[in-house]
Amino acid sequence: MSVQEEVDGTPLPPGWSAPAHQPGAFELPTTTFRERAERTMARPFARTAIAGATDHAAELTWLKFEGVDHDGLRDQAKQIRAHAIANLPDYLEQWIDNAEANGTIVHFAADEVEARRIIAEICVDEQIASVVKSKSMASEEVSLNSALEGAGVDVFETDLGEFVVQAMGDRPGHVIAPILHRTKDEVHALFSEMAGRELPNEAEALTAFARAGLRHAFLTADGGISGGNFLIAETGEVMLVTNEGNGRLTTAAPRVHIALVGIEKVIPRRRDLPVLLPLLTGHGTGQQITTYVTITGGPRRGAEPDGPERTHVVLLDAGRSALLGGEFEEALHCIRCGACQNVCPVYRQVGGHAYGWVYGGPIGAVLTPLFRGQEEGGEVAQATTLCGACDDICPVRIPLHDLLLGLRRQRAEQAQTPRREQLAFAAWGAVWSRPRLYRASTVVGGAALRVLARGDAVSTRLPGLRRWTDGRDLLLRRGRG
Ligand code: SF4
Repeated sequence: MSVQEEVDGTPLPPGWSAPAHQPGAFELPTTTFRERAERTMARPFARTAIAGATDHAAELTWLKFEGVDHDGLRDQAKQIRAHAIANLPDYLEQWIDNAEANGTIVHFAADEVEARRIIAEICVDEQIASVVKSKSMASEEVSLNSALEGAGVDVFETDLGEFVVQAMGDRPGHVIAPILHRTKDEVHALFSEMAGRELPNEAEALTAFARAGLRHAFLTADGGISGGNFLIAETGEVMLVTNEGNGRLTTAAPRVHIALVGIEKVIPRRRDLPVLLPLLTGHGTGQQITTYVTITGGPRRGAEPDGPERTHVVLLDAGRSALLGGEFEEALHCIRCGACQNVCPVYRQVGGHAYGWVYGGPIGAVLTPLFRGQEEGGEVAQATTLCGACDDICPVRIPLHDLLLGLRRQRAEQAQTPRREQLAFAAWGAVWSRPRLYRASTVVGGAALRVLARGDAVSTRLPGLRRWTDGRDLLLRRGRG
């Protein structure tokens, strides 16, 4: 049965209503990293849940690649991504030629304002009153939902986690797992409110409730909006992975499909997928492969029973082309697997919202200053211990920790670090670059710590560092001078 045939006789389930909340605003310009982090850390469950889920995901990733030449695969993936980005204009041109030959209508958005305008105009021209959306971080970047809702278009997020985020008026907390920071009880309360009755607090019942409503939305929406994991230059296709099948329905069921994809997602050939795909899914969810891999090549052709009548792809620049050929070009190699978030000791404590914009964890700490500018986003590049765990796990070997150091240096050169921090480091540099002063400082420091030590060889409450020492103990080795 084709999806068009299935539309008939699919009424909205009783009690189901569309999410009516606007997404939460980005907080980057109005709050500090510390304020945002403290808010997450004040929710003990969020902290435990984030650490537990990220531990689990990281463990699955390592297990997935046991017995496989993981490093060899990562080397190949790095090469593919580096080659694609180094030749981005050529591959983009090839992708556009092939996509247009397939019947895709291609648009180019220089920034987020243009992306919102173009997609809103497509909705008007195509007489789209409601859209289903599959998960797309690019659409988060441009705040697409609020633009569409402002234009009178009903928007249904169809990834279950994104649906919850949308209905809560929240934002995703992780690239792959948007509701990592939420509890089942919170979802139960939300869905019961939407249903107007108490639903069973069981995962199966809750997903069945969402599924029934979303099924109706898929079959009645005028438009489907997706992102894209890769743009395949040699075929003009868009590839996306999902586990819930919502990507396939979003791209195939409504009469118009619109994909919003960052220009850096281009790869040369289909045969690059056997390298990139297992790394994306293995590092994202620890799976051999996701349940659905969708490759879409334009609108329905000839006598095909399914597929959109028209396909639009909006290529999003929004700061990407400015990175080409520069010190931070490797940030464009990212395939958004989320693995660096899972192993980052900072992200695991504070979660994604602390980063204030779309992306959290090490890749968020790199992309936020690059896409939003040092003045607005530079602070989050400090949110790292520089332990290198992100470098070790990144499937395309992005030197995240070098990029973070580069961004910190850039921020210091632009004099955007706080005056107090500048003075402290100037003093520290002056003392520790002179051997006699360095030796004297260790003697003075050791003596000071012994004075401040409390209890059994433990020092707490260092003056000026209370925020640090209130939550940590500094072990002293007594009797060594
Ligand atoms: S930087 Fe690497 S590990 Fe992090 S999301 Fe991108 S590809 Fe994955």
